Amino acid sequence: MHPIVIIGTGLAGFNTVKEFRKLDKETPIVMLTADDGRNYSKPMLSAGFTKEKTADDLCMATPEKVAEQFNVDVRTGVHVAGIDAANKRVLLPDDHLDYSKLVLALGADTWTPPLEGDAVGEVFSVNDLMDYGKFRAAVDGKKTVTILGGGLIGCEFANDLSNGGFQVSLVEPMGRCLPLLLPEQASEAVGRGLAELGVQFHFGPLAKAVHHGENGQLVTELSDGSKLESDVVLSAIGLRPRIGMAKEAGL
Ligand SMILES: Cc1cc2nc3c(=O)[nH]c(=O)nc-3n(C[C@H](O)[C@H](O)[C@H](O)COP(=O)(O)OP(=O)(O)OC[C@H]3O[C@@H](n4cnc5c(N)ncnc54)[C@H](O)[C@@H]3O)c2cc1C
Repeated sequence: MHPIVIIGTGLAGFNTVKEFRKLDKETPIVMLTADDGRNYSKPMLSAGFTKEKTADDLCMATPEKVAEQFNVDVRTGVHVAGIDAANKRVLLPDDHLDYSKLVLALGADTWTPPLEGDAVGEVFSVNDLMDYGKFRAAVDGKKTVTILGGGLIGCEFANDLSNGGFQVSLVEPMGRCLPLLLPEQASEAVGRGLAELGVQFHFGPLAKAVHHGENGQLVTELSDGSKLESDVVLSAIGLRPRIGMAKEAGL
């Protein structure tokens, strides 16, 4: 019998396995993930400086441990290229894998704004544990961070990085913190709390470009003509569900 195949070892994939194994201990399961398969809590990625946690500290279980605990075959570093739904197989870079049932637990991609400038490639986003490890390495020994986006993740990072001793500038075109989530009064309360931590807000303009400046600094250019200098730029503009593979498969 072909295994159940789960693509993704994040919260959705992991909890599917955990709950399924309460009912069925035997049916073969293969979990595929493009990343390193370490189990972690994603909300902790924006609380790591407050709690002084490195990427390794945030790892709750290795893929080997998950495999043993739930009697599953976890394959890491495998980027699934597509689904052949008619023949019930997932397409791997050089091979394929047949399934009896398929679970898509693919998560979301970060959305990067259409920025100009010669330092766009150095703008970070933090959407998984591997990103978090790279971001922590990048801010090590640095003092200033510009955050693009004042939604949930931008505000959480503003709070966390301030607690970690960084001077934070936050750019939010919609004019207040958490504009899509909170009414004005509550937004103001969040903004006041972050301002007390030292966060400097740039409400109204859009980020237009990120350039290399002097002395290794990055310069974020805003649509109102102002320029923000910082050591590191973090984009927290938004996430889009990874539905491309399902669409291509006609699901
Ligand atoms: C910084 C941050 C803070 C957050 N804070 C909160 C919070 O406080 N409260 C809250 O409710 N939510 C929060 N969220 C959102 C929440 O954490 C996520 O919605 C949730 O973790 C997503 O889980 P997932 O399993 O769907 O995706 P993920 O955990 O992203 O897992 C996706 C998996 O799919 C794999 N994958 C994707 N494409 C392929 C492919 N082609 N081939 C193979 N594998 C593939 C990846 O490798 C990964 O294993 C936060 C998110 C972030 C980024």
